[in-house]
Amino acid sequence: MDDKLRQEICHICHLLYNRGYVVSNDGNVSARTDRGTILITPSGVSKGRITPDMLVETDADGRILSGDRYPSSEGKMHWMLYRERKDVMAVVHAHPPMATAFSICRRPLTERYLAEMIVGLGEVPVTKFAMLSTDEVPLSVLPFVQDHCAVLLANHGALTWGPTLLSAFDRMETVEQTAKIHHYVSQLGGGVELTPAQAAALRSMTGFYQNLAKNRDI
Ligand code: 13P
Ligand code: ZN
Repeated sequence: MDDKLRQEICHICHLLYNRGYVVSNDGNVSARTDRGTILITPSGVSKGRITPDMLVETDADGRILSGDRYPSSEGKMHWMLYRERKDVMAVVHAHPPMATAFSICRRPLTERYLAEMIVGLGEVPVTKFAMLSTDEVPLSVLPFVQDHCAVLLANHGALTWGPTLLSAFDRMETVEQTAKIHHYVSQLGGGVELTPAQAAALRSMTGFYQNLAKNRDI
C-alpha cells in the first residue's frame, strides 16, 4: 500500500543525504496519506540507505498502525504539524550545516536580501531550545506553525513543512542556501536589504511565479 508515496519519501531522504543536509541517522521525513494516516521514517536509520519497507505508518497522534520499526524519535513535531495544519501533507527535518550553525547562534533568517526567500519561504525564526525527542520540541515549534513554513530548531537543525514532499524539501534547500548567502554577506561586511515596499511587490508576484511553474512535478 502507498507504494508511490513510500518511494517519494525515500527519494526525499536520499536527496537530503546526497546534499549533505543529514549524516548518519540525522533527520526525519513524513507525509500524510490520502487516508489521513502518516508515513514516517523509522528512528536510527541513515536517510542515505533507507528503503520503502522501513517506513512506519501511524495516526496523527503517533499511534503505530503498521511497520516493524520504531517511528522517528522526533515524530511528535511531525504529528503536531499534521494536527494543526490540515493543508500540510509533508514534513522534513534535517541538520544542514549552515542553517544549523545559524540555529546555534540563534540567528533567524529575517533580512530582506533575496527574492527566493521573500516569495518562497518568508522569515525563518529560531525556536526556543527544546530537549531533543521530548514534548518540548513540538511546543517550541507551535507558535510558528500557522504563519511560517520553516523554522530553525535552536542548537539542533531545521524543520520545514508544505503541501507536497517536494515543496517541503525545496524549502529545506532554500533555508540552507539562504543561510549560506547571509553568512557570505555578513563576511563581506553586511548587505543592502530590499525595502518593505520592494518585498511587498515581490510577494504580490507569487501567483505569477506559481503560474510559470504550473506543470512542475519534479
Ligand atoms: P531519528 O533517527 O529518531 O528520526 O532522529 C534523528 C534526528 O534528527 C533527531 O533529532
Ligand atoms: Zn534532528
